[in-house]
Amino acid sequence: MQRPSLYFADEHELFRQSVRQFIETEVVPHTDAWETNRRIPVSIFRRMGELGYLGLPFAEAFGGVNANFWYSVVFLEELARCGMGGFATAVSVHEYMAINHIAKAGSYELKQRYLVPAIAGEKVAALAITEPDAGSDVSAIRTTAVRTDTGDSFIVNGAKTFISNGTYGDFVTLVVRTGEAGAGSGGISLLVVELDSPGITRTKLNKLGWHSSDTAEIRFDDVRVPATNLIGQENKGFYYLMESLQLERLVASVMAVSGAQRALDWTLDYLNEREAFGKKIGKFQAIRHKIADVATEIEMARQFVYHTCWLYTQGEVVVKECSMAKLATSEMQKRVVDTCLQFFGGYGYMEDYPIARAYRDARVGTIAGGSSEIMREIIARIVIDAVAYKPVYEGASGRS
Ligand SMILES: Cc1cc2nc3c(=O)[nH]c(=O)nc-3n(C[C@H](O)[C@H](O)[C@H](O)COP(=O)(O)OP(=O)(O)OC[C@H]3O[C@@H](n4cnc5c(N)ncnc54)[C@H](O)[C@@H]3O)c2cc1C
Repeated sequence: MQRPSLYFADEHELFRQSVRQFIETEVVPHTDAWETNRRIPVSIFRRMGELGYLGLPFAEAFGGVNANFWYSVVFLEELARCGMGGFATAVSVHEYMAINHIAKAGSYELKQRYLVPAIAGEKVAALAITEPDAGSDVSAIRTTAVRTDTGDSFIVNGAKTFISNGTYGDFVTLVVRTGEAGAGSGGISLLVVELDSPGITRTKLNKLGWHSSDTAEIRFDDVRVPATNLIGQENKGFYYLMESLQLERLVASVMAVSGAQRALDWTLDYLNEREAFGKKIGKFQAIRHKIADVATEIEMARQFVYHTCWLYTQGEVVVKECSMAKLATSEMQKRVVDTCLQFFGGYGYMEDYPIARAYRDARVGTIAGGSSEIMREIIARIVIDAVAYKPVYEGASGRS
């Protein structure tokens, strides 16, 4: 029997069943192909668009579903259960990190041109913040967007790196410097840039894990972008980023817990199959106690993440909680997957076993989207220095 939930209603659970079925029938069977090809097909974005999955948080006027945040939580949990960190990343970056800026601060025209086809899965989006020389410190970015004399365009120059969906995506929400070099976070803006524009060079990067997601270095050489592609106000980009970074961390946390749970589920099945010394390995106390620890860690993390999601739905400033959640869950997932792999013995090291992929995929969790060190910096500033973060769009913080 289903236990009562503070957060999910029956409709959410029905939705969960439909997403789970979709993942099991239309995603999981393609795992080997997508991981080997180092990309997911455009057709899967279209399919998710048809099913409404890519428009969960967005307004109906633009093809979205306008569902409450708990539907997104369910969707992200089920995405992460697919056992392919790369697929889950490609989809979550598109929906919750790249196009949400257009939905939130973009003009009506930008929404029509980019949000609508992205929700339909006809265009794939990326978010480009990181540069070869600036990752954690967003205020140090050097990619410039200079207005032309006529004022109707920007000319973009610079480079971004580690950009998910950057190789095969259609457009990017690009973080650029529009203010003076010394303006720090104040001189940053967000631009929508078509990734097949003249002057753009994309180089696909080889990664340790997340194989099914494509990751690119993107160079911009005198790329002309219409001024109407500016998202929101010029030089306010840093503030727009701040809110989304909280959402980004929450999304990562939800998926980390679900990914860890999936690893535990595979392990529980294996403990009941594999025998050593005449009994199932799940009967050995050394293993049972470790599994008890793992299950406890996952459950504790899940409840904290749900609580943070709830605060987020109440419009609270959740910089502290999101940073704690990202730190705790990504580190937890890394530990859990490592422990789980151990109990598969030699098979855990074989590509045929999904736990091997989970191990590779979990490693990046403590780096991407704000590293553990940076999460600790933010938390320390709040708990030691009593730094107070203002509501979004009024104040500033950093990826750091
Ligand atoms: C697979 C993958 C996908 C990614 N996808 C995207 C994407 O789609 N879009 C995007 O914009 N970015 C993306 N990133 C980039 C990611 O967000 C950055 O890698 C991350 O923010 C860290 O930046 P960096 O790599 O430049 O490391 P650096 O900032 O150079 O940090 C190097 C080390 O120093 C530590 N460090 C830095 N500053 C401090 C400090 N103040 N105190 C203590 N330690 C510190 C860091 O924690 C890290 O351990 C992706 C990265 C990967 C690996």
